[in-house]
Amino acid sequence: MKNPLLSHSRLPLFHQIEPHHALTAVQEGVRQANERISALITSLLEPSWDNLMQPLDEVSALIQEVWSPIGHLNAVKNTPEWRDAYHACLPILTQFSTQLGQNHKLYQKVLQLSQSASFSSLSMIQKKIIHDQLRDFHLSGVALKGDKKRRYADIQQRLSVLGAKFEENVLDATHHWCYVTDNPRDLAGLPEHILAFSRQKAVDKAREGCYLLTLDAPCYIAVMKYADNADLRYQMYHAYTTRASDQGPSAGQFDNTAVMLELVQLKQELAHMLNFKHYADYSLATKMAGSVNDVMEFLLTLAKQSRAYAEKELMELNTFANDHLGMEALSAWDIAYVSEKLQQHQYSVNEELLRSYFPIDRVLSGMFAIIDHIYGMRVVEKATGPDGVLFVEVWHPDVRFFEIYDAGETLRGTFYLDLFAREGKRGGAWMDDCRSRRVVDGKMVIPVAYLNANFSPPQAGQSALLTHDDVITLFHEFGHGLHHLLTQINEGQVSGISGVEWDAVELPSQLMENFCWQKSCIPMISSHVERQEALPESLFQAMLNAKNFQSGMQMLRQIEFALFDITLYSQVAPNDGAGLQSILDAVRQQVSVIIPPQFNRFQHSFCHIFSGGYSAGYYSYKWAEVLSSDVFLAFEEHGVLSRKIGEKFLHTILARGGSQPMMELFKAFRGREPNVDALLRYSGLR
Ligand SMILES: [Zn+2]
Repeated sequence: MKNPLLSHSRLPLFHQIEPHHALTAVQEGVRQANERISALITSLLEPSWDNLMQPLDEVSALIQEVWSPIGHLNAVKNTPEWRDAYHACLPILTQFSTQLGQNHKLYQKVLQLSQSASFSSLSMIQKKIIHDQLRDFHLSGVALKGDKKRRYADIQQRLSVLGAKFEENVLDATHHWCYVTDNPRDLAGLPEHILAFSRQKAVDKAREGCYLLTLDAPCYIAVMKYADNADLRYQMYHAYTTRASDQGPSAGQFDNTAVMLELVQLKQELAHMLNFKHYADYSLATKMAGSVNDVMEFLLTLAKQSRAYAEKELMELNTFANDHLGMEALSAWDIAYVSEKLQQHQYSVNEELLRSYFPIDRVLSGMFAIIDHIYGMRVVEKATGPDGVLFVEVWHPDVRFFEIYDAGETLRGTFYLDLFAREGKRGGAWMDDCRSRRVVDGKMVIPVAYLNANFSPPQAGQSALLTHDDVITLFHEFGHGLHHLLTQINEGQVSGISGVEWDAVELPSQLMENFCWQKSCIPMISSHVERQEALPESLFQAMLNAKNFQSGMQMLRQIEFALFDITLYSQVAPNDGAGLQSILDAVRQQVSVIIPPQFNRFQHSFCHIFSGGYSAGYYSYKWAEVLSSDVFLAFEEHGVLSRKIGEKFLHTILARGGSQPMMELFKAFRGREPNVDALLRYSGLR
């Protein structure tokens, strides 16, 4: 039987793909890719765009086609079998991409093209791709010789293994711990949907009649915010913030300390081999920010702006705890709980009450209507085919599938939507690309995206209800999706999210979040689950008042993470866990208003900067928020749902992918460089 991962089907054949297909498909994909590359190197005398760059793009499309479903299934269906399959493939792919990046003969061909007479006749986009490619050859160590070249490849191999191990430790530690009780009084204060969820969890684990709480984000956050039981909050906080570390209830069992130290050390070594002072410089070589100094200065400016606000917020919190709750000194596990009480006291916003106004289908249809307003794009769900059979193969019954059409009824892109938390699914929310837009032999490949989240699943027979935070998350991921799907660039290397500077990729996603806060959008995305009425004006007003609740403290928290990251990767790698901790401690001393307890090992589950792509790049969130706030200000100036501004943004930034540096795209849209004013204003820090 044919391997479904090699079927070249329009969409992955999720009903047929099994873990045992992965390894053979990756081996075969890499074999074909290598064969094509060898042919290019040996046959080309006069490299041109069509005979070199276009085939190279097809090689990466071939690898993406095989690998994207495997990576995706490993993230959303993390069974032991998928995990093994993923691990078996990873070294092969890493080796392939290292060898590709270090292929000196191939590099010579690209260089030859860049110096040829035909180069000047290429388009701006094609020239940029060639320049990016040459830069990436250098960053992959193409100039290294002999032992150094081998060492570089070994480091890449080891880094990919360590990254996967880091995430597994976090996932295992998260699922290892639970809290079981048969006494509902232990859970006083928790919202009904969490109680129902925990009863069901107990049934699943053969503890019928009990309540079972887990460290999955929706459950953990609910306990920290709502549980009246301080001891329960402490136990959850203790278990959660010590995951995958040398501390807490699973101390040492999934400990990431050695993994982290080795990761940082190897990244530094890799940067040194390429003559960078440290890994942070290597990381910034492909980003919008110019230097470590620029990043530091940017973060410290924001910290300075936020400090007084954060101090005032913390004082208010302490006073409130004292006066209204009879609590004296606040512990780390009290902060979210008291904050929630204070927020209700000040603004009477009850997130759980608000849930009834955000049933998933209403939110989706409203979000799609907003997209129609500003961009003239129509989203259509493809549930079943004409014969009533599911039109598209999916990996879980919860998964839905959508298509996006423009005003001319041209199909622009399609996406899968997988919204609910379940066992074996990676935490958080994320967008991933499945297919990228490109033109092959005159035929267009339609881009495809995966949109994933971990919202509380619906209770049996009912509609899933989202918190307003969930709504914001959904808009955010959809923003990434639109960036990937609405692109008009035909070169796969820079279409959609490809080739966009890492510190600019959050612009389209964060931009979308703003629409969740607009008076004109609320009636579109809200409708009470029983009474079918939009969110009342008074509740919306209260939400708006509460929007920047503790925004100073939140800003400092993000700055703490970002400073820890950029500092860690711009100095000598620490030798032990204590060294790692002391970098974080020093950052906290510098900018934080809340110092967590000694046992807290937040860094041991900080996937972004250890296993994700955010090493020396976590500042990107705030960096891009400066851009997105400044863009949204333009919407605000012209009426929030302005088609005129929507189309301008679509054509100057969103559809342009990585075809030009973001600073140029931004200036084309805004007529000037970005500044922090809009971000500070929207955050209430001005
Ligand atoms: Zn994002």
